[in-house]
Amino acid sequence: MKTILILGAGTAGTAMAHKLRRRLTRDWEIAVVDPSTRHVYQPGLLFLPFGDETEARIVRERESTLGRGITWHQAEVKRIDTERRIVELSEGEPLPYDFLVIASGTVIRPDLIDGMSDGGWGKSVFDFYTLEGARALRAALANFEGGRLVVNVVEMPIKCPVAPLELTFLADAYLAKRGIRDKTELVYVTPLDGAFTKPLASKTLGYLLEDKGVQVETEFMTGEVDAERNVIRSYDEREIPYDLLVTVPPHTGSSFLEDSELGDELGFVPTDPHTLAVKDIERVFCIGDATDLPSSKAGSVAHFQVDLLVRNIERAIEDKPLEPTFDGHSNCFVETGYGKAMLIDFNYETEPLPGQFPIPGIGPLPLLKEARRNHWAKLAFRWVYWNALLPARPIPISPTMSLAGKQLSAAAEAGGP
Ligand SMILES: Cc1cc2nc3c(=O)[nH]c(=O)nc-3n(C[C@H](O)[C@H](O)[C@H](O)COP(=O)(O)OP(=O)(O)OC[C@H]3O[C@@H](n4cnc5c(N)ncnc54)[C@H](O)[C@@H]3O)c2cc1C
Repeated sequence: MKTILILGAGTAGTAMAHKLRRRLTRDWEIAVVDPSTRHVYQPGLLFLPFGDETEARIVRERESTLGRGITWHQAEVKRIDTERRIVELSEGEPLPYDFLVIASGTVIRPDLIDGMSDGGWGKSVFDFYTLEGARALRAALANFEGGRLVVNVVEMPIKCPVAPLELTFLADAYLAKRGIRDKTELVYVTPLDGAFTKPLASKTLGYLLEDKGVQVETEFMTGEVDAERNVIRSYDEREIPYDLLVTVPPHTGSSFLEDSELGDELGFVPTDPHTLAVKDIERVFCIGDATDLPSSKAGSVAHFQVDLLVRNIERAIEDKPLEPTFDGHSNCFVETGYGKAMLIDFNYETEPLPGQFPIPGIGPLPLLKEARRNHWAKLAFRWVYWNALLPARPIPISPTMSLAGKQLSAAAEAGGP
């Protein structure tokens, strides 16, 4: 029996395992390695702090997300030996592989910023990128009676780069509903020079922040959290005071990648941007947030990569050359508060543009524009995730980006690509 071993059974690893199981014969063992017994639908973490989502709906037992025909090794990967083609684990015998897929995502690292995980952590300093963080933030927000609420992105790359903006928009609506918006200064602090990485979307999202009376502090490289004085300090000595700090800490790859000499300086895996093969290493591929690619670290990207990589693995099995098919396609709803959301669709070459999705001229979802329809689609996405995306059932969205339905003239007018 030959083995395809998948390291990490999150969004990318689980979908990959299901897709391979369907496509390959039973001569192939499909195995995943993951120490955690639960699978979290991470987009739901955005709504949890505001009481608009429940843990029961966004957390499932890992076992229930992996079907029959997929082997689960409940252990932590410690090291990959690419010469001997084995993976060493925290417990049990090393696992041999014929092909390896790295899908170990990111690790949230508050410990990398001076003072962040000290005295204030869980009292006045919170994250919402982990289940524990989102749960604690919910209690803190419920007790918040006004003051300075600061949302702080420490550095890029982070997963779902729009999530901190969405949290800010939702906080604005939440505080208004509780009648304390006028007692609160809402501040968005980012290392970028605008609201987002891509020019047109950054402009549109920037207007929205302005509209909602959010103060924006750009190019702020957070160096320290002083939890005694309740201020964050940048490397260029700027200080921003807070009463409640919601931070997105630095992200790195999983530590076994550094121990296997496979990660870059942040522990992300150097990956071919189009074939998804790990650079210079045979029979090893990488998908999802673990790659060093400039595509968004997002579940949608992981899903598109799975669709395309499965074909390349089949080609590798048949000893055929890999196809350079992945174009960096990303697709993301941006919740903007008051029951509305925007939708953005882009790839390596084309920034998010106005238009309609998925059917040109019809939609029904407008691109780069607030709409109730987008909000309802975002909420429906949880069902799609558990029932189609994770078990890798077909969905009618192309893994590569289409220009149909997009207003290319908008980019030209804005001076973009
Ligand atoms: C608040 C929030 C909102 C988001 N909203 C959206 C959204 O609206 N749309 C969207 O597309 N994306 C969104 N995302 C991003 C999306 O959830 C991730 O990009 C996606 O889950 C990435 O999939 P992955 O498989 O690469 O990583 P993950 O799903 O994080 O899985 C990684 C897995 O690897 C395992 N692992 C790590 N280290 C080891 C080890 N040493 N050994 C074995 N296993 C290991 C982990 O236990 C985990 O199960 C959001 C994320 C957050 C935090």
